[in-house]
Amino acid sequence: MKITHVRAIPVKGRHWPRFPMVFVEVGTDEGVVGIGEALAFQTTGVVQSVETVGEWLLGENPLQIERLWERCFRRGAELSALSGIEIALWDIAGQVAGMPIYQLLGGACHDRIRVYADGFFRGATPTPESYREKAAAAVAQGFTALKLDVDDFLTPGVRKVLIRCHGDALGRGITNAEVRRVEESVAAIREHLGPEVDLALDCHWAFDLPGALRLGRALEPYHLMWFEDPIPSGNLAALARLASELSVPICIGEALCTRFQFREVFERGAASIIMPDVARAGGILEMKKIAAMADTYYIPVAPHDMVGPIATAASLHVCASIPNFLILEHQMNDVPWRDELTDEPLVVRDGQMELPTRPGLGVRLNYAAVEKYRAE
Ligand code: MG
Repeated sequence: MKITHVRAIPVKGRHWPRFPMVFVEVGTDEGVVGIGEALAFQTTGVVQSVETVGEWLLGENPLQIERLWERCFRRGAELSALSGIEIALWDIAGQVAGMPIYQLLGGACHDRIRVYADGFFRGATPTPESYREKAAAAVAQGFTALKLDVDDFLTPGVRKVLIRCHGDALGRGITNAEVRRVEESVAAIREHLGPEVDLALDCHWAFDLPGALRLGRALEPYHLMWFEDPIPSGNLAALARLASELSVPICIGEALCTRFQFREVFERGAASIIMPDVARAGGILEMKKIAAMADTYYIPVAPHDMVGPIATAASLHVCASIPNFLILEHQMNDVPWRDELTDEPLVVRDGQMELPTRPGLGVRLNYAAVEKYRAE
């Protein structure tokens, strides 16, 4: 079997033109077609990267996944593109074997995949009442875990405008008023929903060390599932200090790639939970390796999953196959066409997702919908 084409298919997502869904298609001379997805902040770069790496792979045997990945990695392949292609190669392997991918990874350690609701607050005003109401609606749908974004509680005008850039003034501090606003909403949700619903807070790398310590300490009474990216990941010693000084678990890793970047996180004790993204960290097998390394430090894995349904399907296979899986991200209130993009929607029931049962990824792209929402 030989690879005959590799192409990227960008589709509009909820923050278009940011965060497109970039699907990757790998074709073979035997007619088997694999689908993957690459996580990207903008379309152009990753589409070009998929084309570049795709050219390296023409004529190769798609079943030699580890060998092809390693060769592309050593040639300096962009990691989102390589992740998307690697997922498509696993889809091909699963179809050839007639088995779901998780079966090829050693079988399922978990029969259903617990997910948390991110974006449950979309449409809310940043007040305790509004957040409490939206959180209750998510729990009524069956979710047992929710994640808030800190961004909405930061003072308008100095709110961060870009990821890793905390507002026009570039300050990373947090005011007492901002700490209080976050705390009031977390407290309102906790009080209303009781002690058993898991809550996480995503800070998108917004703060400096004293600000993160202050906010983290204010939130300690609410027993968060995790405190995500409170400071940038550029200094793991600073993260290790935060992790040692706060009782709330620190979670990082959505922007980190490969086992090599995660190694230092583990060695330095920079996080208690990691959240690699299969569509960016290197793909399915790289996620397995990262998770195995994490397990030797008794660190659980809560994969990041932000954009399209193919990345979700790939995440399900990874989550099923790793013993130290914690919980998977799920976007509530996403674009209405997300479910149209696959032949079968990936359904959340009672806060959990079923494993795909068909060979490969277990979902196929619906090309009519892909064309309809295609991004150029
Ligand atoms: Mg995040």
